[in-house]
Amino acid sequence: MGKNIQVKIPDIGDFEGVEVIEVLVAPGDEVAAETSLITLESDKASMEIPSPQAGRVASMDVKVGDKVSEGDAILTLEATSDEDKDKQGDKTRDEDGGASSKEKPTGGSKPATAGDGDIHAEVLVLGAGPGGYTAAFRAADLGKQVVLVERYPDLGGVCLNVGCIPSKALLHTAGIIDAAAAMASHGVSFGQPQIDLDRLRGWKDKVVGKLTGGLAQLAKQRKVKVVQGMGRFDSANRLKVAGEDGERTISFDHAIVAVGSRVVQIPGIPYDDPRVIDSTGALELADIPDSLLVIGGGIIGLEMATVYAALGSRITVVELTKGLMPGCDRDLVRPLQKVIGKRYEGIYTDTRVTGVEAQKKGLKVHFEGPKAPATATFDRVLVAAGRRPNGDRVGAEQAHLYVDERGFIKVDRQMRTNVSNIFAIGDVVGQPMLAHKATHEAKVAAEVIAGHRAVFDARAVPSVAYTDPEVAWMGPTEEELKAEGIEYDKGVFPWAASGRSLGMGRDEGVTKIMFDKESGRILGAGMVGPHAGDLVAEAVLALEMGADAQDIGLTVHPHPTLSETFAFAAEMVDGSITDLLPPKKR
Ligand code: FAD
Repeated sequence: MGKNIQVKIPDIGDFEGVEVIEVLVAPGDEVAAETSLITLESDKASMEIPSPQAGRVASMDVKVGDKVSEGDAILTLEATSDEDKDKQGDKTRDEDGGASSKEKPTGGSKPATAGDGDIHAEVLVLGAGPGGYTAAFRAADLGKQVVLVERYPDLGGVCLNVGCIPSKALLHTAGIIDAAAAMASHGVSFGQPQIDLDRLRGWKDKVVGKLTGGLAQLAKQRKVKVVQGMGRFDSANRLKVAGEDGERTISFDHAIVAVGSRVVQIPGIPYDDPRVIDSTGALELADIPDSLLVIGGGIIGLEMATVYAALGSRITVVELTKGLMPGCDRDLVRPLQKVIGKRYEGIYTDTRVTGVEAQKKGLKVHFEGPKAPATATFDRVLVAAGRRPNGDRVGAEQAHLYVDERGFIKVDRQMRTNVSNIFAIGDVVGQPMLAHKATHEAKVAAEVIAGHRAVFDARAVPSVAYTDPEVAWMGPTEEELKAEGIEYDKGVFPWAASGRSLGMGRDEGVTKIMFDKESGRILGAGMVGPHAGDLVAEAVLALEMGADAQDIGLTVHPHPTLSETFAFAAEMVDGSITDLLPPKKR
């Protein structure tokens, strides 16, 4: 080792007395140049302080909770001499040939060298869903040499293959079937739809194929090396990939874990019976069952119910909690519930399925709850009771990666895990499990690895149920605002007063916006009605821009569109509405 140097807080801009929220190294740790030593967090940003050079940590001068400013000592480093560097190169190979026990649980993991694995990656991305492929592509665009590991032959993960995209393709079909049927009351009749299930399935698969094929092309163009197989960490710098052609080892400087989530299986259900399906099975469109029980009244269950109802199945929905679509305000769910309440055979909330018996003539289902229905038999049962993260399936312990008891990997706002060179993104790091959250987190992880000062600080991640009507919301719900005692003004615009909505034969929609009582700025918003999922994007932009009711009301919205309902809801708050009577001032 060379001489001792004291590592100090560098110039961190206009920040004084910033809190140390994480200490990523400990005395005795060997660190490479640029290894993160501590994380600081102010009310505006969090940042990692990297080591100015390689060496061994001799002693620490800070602990979590300390407030630091430019020039304060962080730690003393025994700087690595050139001689040591040579020795360390040898040691790296020795360690990797044997135990991983010398690696510390937090930080300090030195970059592997090219000789450690069959392949070396500057950035290794595990999982090629929307999180993984976005991270891989962004890292490659920022000049990194990237290896993307995916267990399935097609890229795109759950979202493209068995989630967002196929479900929305089928929901579009369902929407057309329903819209055509609704035309009868306007004097235009089309007759019963003739459904060719094979062609419908083929069309859906073609949509998926176009997108996943496009991803493979984009990976190639960016020189991202795709390795197919199941990956498990071998250490904090190496991953073993079991593929069809045997096992390969990939060493890496940085890794991004993007392994997503899987379906939750509830007890008492004969999963080996082909009539029991999950969302993936439902999207396969094996048949159109005469009767379908959907277990789970969340977004995925209700979207699948929408598809099968339009195709002609008799639908029953059973939900464990007190209301459909938990997490959304009741006034936004009510219009949907009214529509499907008339259409479906039954919707049972506060009800538990206690058992399913596979019988020759169908699946006999037993229920429990205050208003539970009697035991009934269904042709198929769709289990949509939630998803759980895959953090428990990556060999996390080998990399000393912290995974909580539910399988989530904990990360900071730079998507960094407890191991300084390993990042995690997407469903595996927490709720909401949504593709657009995964892609934004992915870019942050890739940018931080490339040395940018990026953080994930989105003010809201919008949620959308592509049911009929659609339900969308962003920011805190009204229920959450009430629970937190935050005072707000609310503007509600019923779509029954929207010319465009009436022209579409729809009048059940509602748009509402909540504004902070003190600052006047938008806090949260939600809408229910056709295309609500497209409309919510404007609310998110308004939130990010700190808009108030006047900003929104004075923004000229095209007429006649559903987008006007957002401006009208704002005008309900500032009293400038003319399409309805303004609410009386209290
Ligand atoms: P995933 O998409 O789950 O990708 C993870 C990838 O990692 C997978 O390809 C998996 O094979 C791979 N993998 C896992 N472990 C390993 C391993 N050890 N080795 C190698 N590879 C591994 N979200 C929306 O935003 N909008 C929607 O409309 C929407 N609709 C949905 C509909 C359905 C039916 C479902 C099921 C989900 C839907 N979602 C939707 C959720 C969305 O699909 C997920 O939030 C999103 O796919 C998460 O992305 P991810 O990259 O974190 O993980």
